[in-house]
Amino acid sequence: MNGANDIAARLLRGETLTSAEFAVLAASSDETLEETLRAAAVERRKAVYGNKVYTRGLIEISSICKNDCLYCGIRCSNKNAERYRLDPDEIVKCAEEGYALGFRTFVLQGGEDPFFSDDVLVPLIKTLKTRHPDCAVTLSLGERSSESYKALFDAGADRYLLRHETATKAHYEKLHPPQMSFERRMQCLQVLRKIGYQVGAGFMVGSPFQTADDLGRDLAFLQSFQPEMCGIGPFIPHKDTPFRACPAGTLRLTLRLLSIIRLACPNVLLPATTALGTIDPTGREKGILAGANVVMPNLSPVRVRKKYALYDGKICTGEESAQCKDCLAQRMRAIGYEVVVDRGDCAKTIRN
Ligand code: SAH
Repeated sequence: MNGANDIAARLLRGETLTSAEFAVLAASSDETLEETLRAAAVERRKAVYGNKVYTRGLIEISSICKNDCLYCGIRCSNKNAERYRLDPDEIVKCAEEGYALGFRTFVLQGGEDPFFSDDVLVPLIKTLKTRHPDCAVTLSLGERSSESYKALFDAGADRYLLRHETATKAHYEKLHPPQMSFERRMQCLQVLRKIGYQVGAGFMVGSPFQTADDLGRDLAFLQSFQPEMCGIGPFIPHKDTPFRACPAGTLRLTLRLLSIIRLACPNVLLPATTALGTIDPTGREKGILAGANVVMPNLSPVRVRKKYALYDGKICTGEESAQCKDCLAQRMRAIGYEVVVDRGDCAKTIRN
C-alpha cells in the first residue's frame, strides 16, 4: 500500500508519473488514499477556478453515423437506431434559446454524418459566431481531414472534443472495427492542437476489456498531452450493440479517475458528464466534488433527445432546455458551487 501512497504524494507535488505508476493509482481501492486524492483535487481545482462551474449547451446535431464503434448505440449497423439530423436553422435556434438561458459555449456534437460537410458547417459556425460574438463554439464531430479541421477553425470554431477513447492500440482495436485506426485518432488530436483549437481528449471508464494498465496509459497520455478539456464518463451498455451484456463502468472508479486527472492536469476543463449522472442519481454532484468543474446540459430539441442514444437509460431526455439548466444550477448551488455565465476558457495550461 505504501507504494500507492508514495506515488500519490508525488502526483500531489506535481511530478510526472509513468503509466505503470498511474496504473497503481487507478487500481488502488484504498479509501484513505481515495479521499486524499479527492481532497487534493478539489483544492487544486479551487485554486484555479474557485467554486465556479462552467456550463456548455450541448446540441446533438445528428444521430446518423458512418462509423461502427462497438460500444455506441448510434453505430451504423444498429438498424434499430432512430436517425435524425437537425437542419442548420434549427441549430441556430437552439443556440439562440441557450444564449437567453445564459450559455456562452455551444457544443455541436454528432455522429460522423456526411451531410455536415465543410460547406454546411462553415456558414453555420460563422452565423453562430456573428450572432453570439461573446460565445465559444465547440465541435465534437469525430475524425475529419486536417483541411476540414482548419476550415472549421478559420470559420470561428474555438474548441474540438475528440476523446482518444483509449491510449492502448490493442484495446482500441477491441472497441472499434478494423476500418478505424488508433494512429489516425491520435494524429487528429495532434493536428487539432497544431491548428490552434483548445482540444479535448478523454475515454470511457470501464469500457469492455479495459485493464488498470490501459488506464495507466490513458492517464500518462493525458499528463503529457495536457488537453485543455477532458471528457470521461462510465461506459454504459446499449442493448443493440455487441457489448449489450457488458457491465457498466462504476461510479467509484470514475470519481477516482476524475481526481487523478485534476491532479495530473490542474487547469483542465473537466466535465461531470451525463453518463455519470445516468449511473448514479447524484453522479454529477459527486463528480464536481471529486474535481470536475464543467456541466453540459442538453439544448437539443426535446423531440430528438431520445434518438441520440449512445447508451441505455440516458437522463435528461424529457425536459426542456430551461428545465435542464435550472435543475443543474440548483444541484450545483446545493453543494456550494455556482454555475456562471461565462465562456469558461481554459486557464493558461501548465505543460509538464
Ligand atoms: N462522433 C463523435 C462524438 C462521439 S459521442 C466522435 O467520434 O468523437 C461522444 C462520446 O460518447 C464518445 O467519444 C464516447 O466516448 C462516448 N460514448 C459512446 N458510446 C458510449 C457508451 N455506450 N457509454 C458511454 N459513453 C459512450
